[in-house]
Amino acid sequence: MNIGFIGLGNMGAPMAANLAAAGHQVTGFDTVAPCPDGVAQADSATHAAEGAEIVITMLPNGAILRAVADEVLPAMAPGAVLLDCSTVDVASARDVATKAENAGIYALDAPVSGGTGGATAGTLTFMVGGPDAAFATAKPLFDIMGQKAVHCGPAGNGQAAKICNNMILGVTMIATCEAFALADKLGLDRQAMFDVVSTSSGQSWSMNTYCPAPGIGPTSPADNDYKPGFAADLMLKDLRLSQEAAEAVDADTPMGAAARDLYARFVEIEDGAGRDFSAMLPRFEGRRREK
Ligand code: NAD
Repeated sequence: MNIGFIGLGNMGAPMAANLAAAGHQVTGFDTVAPCPDGVAQADSATHAAEGAEIVITMLPNGAILRAVADEVLPAMAPGAVLLDCSTVDVASARDVATKAENAGIYALDAPVSGGTGGATAGTLTFMVGGPDAAFATAKPLFDIMGQKAVHCGPAGNGQAAKICNNMILGVTMIATCEAFALADKLGLDRQAMFDVVSTSSGQSWSMNTYCPAPGIGPTSPADNDYKPGFAADLMLKDLRLSQEAAEAVDADTPMGAAARDLYARFVEIEDGAGRDFSAMLPRFEGRRREK
């Protein structure tokens, strides 16, 4: 396939490289980052999009996605697919899809989980919103860049799935970390705590797979001085998106709001910036009850 790839940062570069290595014709553009091996360099987003059957975007936020979509949609042929893999607000994803549809172009929102490791290994999970026909066109590319693609419904539903998942993740990570800190103060051994919770009703991905306590459970960023992994800054971004969405549709999400506030404080006031999101555990360890 002829593919345009816009946004070649930490995630986009390895994803584009994997598509090129699988034999696709990939033309890339980024305002700063160079093209990875095998990807032809375009001098603008428009040039990367011209003649492409699929244009993939992997960008920082919804405002940039909207600007890039305005630029590339007029350059795309009717029937082509605009596949956005960034994590953005649901409203931006749906607005871009409407604009694309008006131009005779299919839009998919397909945010990912799996991080830079998954992007490099080609093992991402895609959560996809948009029309069936476009999903079918993009499926062979999902199979190269990832291990799983779930079609979640119409435009915006991929982003909805992503922020709901990450809201659960943020909340359960905080709950797991504060429970470890409480267990410490109660004199409960961390290994015993893990052995019980990971096989009881308090289990979650945060405890079982990504345990925030160093030396306990499977290897995780806690065992690497809390180097990300999944940075607290990115968790904060996703929690903010979930709260923006909750406000827009008048959904009551008190735990999600509390998680957003705690990660905002951790990243912007305390020492959480640049650390893994599981570094909430040392944060709680060093704290006393707020009066
Ligand atoms: P990044 O900042 O490394 O990459 C974004 C790239 O977009 C940069 O290279 C930047 O120069 C480029 N860019 C910005 N404006 C542009 C424009 N107008 N035209 C062309 N290029 C432009 O970010 P990333 O870590 O690659 O993340 C990309 C997206 O994936 C984000 O939405 C992020 O939330 C999401 N995501 C990241 C991870 C992760 O672990 N890094 C995991 C899941 C999802």
